Amino acid sequence: MLKNKISLVIVLPFVFLSLHSFSQTAKKLRTIIVDAGHGGEDGGAHGAYEGGLNSWEKNVTLAISNKLVAILQKDLPDVKTIPTRTTDIYQPVKEKAQIANDNKGDLFVCIHADAVALKTGRRQIGTRIEIKHTTYYVGKGKKKKKMIKSKNVVVPVYEYYKIGCPQEGTSVWIFAAHKTDEKLKAVMNNTDFEIDQGNDSTENSIDFSSPEYRTIAQIYANRFQKRSIMLAQYVNEEIANTDRPALGINQRQKGIWVLQATNMPAILVETGFITNHDDERYLNSEKGQQEIAESIAKAIKRYKESIENPKPVVDTSNSTQQTTKPN
Ligand SMILES: [Zn+2]
Repeated sequence: MLKNKISLVIVLPFVFLSLHSFSQTAKKLRTIIVDAGHGGEDGGAHGAYEGGLNSWEKNVTLAISNKLVAILQKDLPDVKTIPTRTTDIYQPVKEKAQIANDNKGDLFVCIHADAVALKTGRRQIGTRIEIKHTTYYVGKGKKKKKMIKSKNVVVPVYEYYKIGCPQEGTSVWIFAAHKTDEKLKAVMNNTDFEIDQGNDSTENSIDFSSPEYRTIAQIYANRFQKRSIMLAQYVNEEIANTDRPALGINQRQKGIWVLQATNMPAILVETGFITNHDDERYLNSEKGQQEIAESIAKAIKRYKESIENPKPVVDTSNSTQQTTKPN
C-alpha cells in the first residue's frame, strides 16, 4: 500500500532527448529484480474489516513475488531474476533499492497490495436499562430544594465494525515525472555507468560534475521513465486480459522512494485491494496469485521483446520515410 496517493492520468514526461547519439545498441534485459513489498515487522496493509480474512499485505506480496520469480526463471533462463526476499524478513526500502542497484538490475518490479481507510458501520445488538436522573425543585425562596427523580429507560446497544471498501482492481505506479532529479541521483551514483563512448578507453571514469555527463545521466533517467511507462502499460493490458479491473498507470505526487532510488526502469504493482472482500480472497488464493504473477510475467516478456528487438517505426508525418528505433 502506498500512502497519500494522488491518482494522475499519465502525462508523458517532458520532452525526451534523442538518445541515438550515444546509445547505439539496444540494451539487453539481463537482470530483473522482483521486490515483495514490506516483510517481517512491516506487515503493510491489513484486511481487517467485517467478513475479512485478516490477511497481511507482506504475505500476499511474498506469495505473488515467489510465483513471479519462478515463472521468470523458468521462461527466461538467460535472464537473472533476483528476488529481494523469499521469506518473511524485514527490509528497509533503502536495502531493497540497494539490492537492485548492487545486482545491476535492468528492471525493478515491486509487488504490493492496496488498501484504503475504511468506513465504520454500526448495528444494534440489543438493549440495556439505564437509570436516567432528572432534577427538579420544590418550594420557593429560602425553602427551595433540589430534588432528583430517577427512572429506568431502555437504550439500544450498538456494535461497531469496519466496512470492506468497494474499490477493487490492479493499478501500476511509476516514478513521478517531476521526480526525475532523484532518479538522476541514482543514475549518477552508479559507478559502472554504461555508456558507449566509441573508441574512448576512459570508460567508467566518468566525471558527473561535468555538464555533459549530467546531461547524459538526465537522458538515462528519462529513458528509464519511458521504459517504465512501457512496462506499466503492458502490465495494465495483461491484467485487463484476465477480466480483472485494470485501473491504469499512475504517478504519485509525493514520489515513491524505492522507484526513484533505483538506477533502472522501475514499476510498482498494486495487485489488488486487501481491504476489499473479493480482492482479498483473490489475492490470498492460489489461482489469484498465479494469475497476477503470470500477467506480470507476460508483460515483462513483451517488454524484453520490445527493447531487444524494437520494431522499426515508420514516421508517416514525413514524406521521406524514416525509421527510428524506440528507446
Ligand atoms: Zn505496500
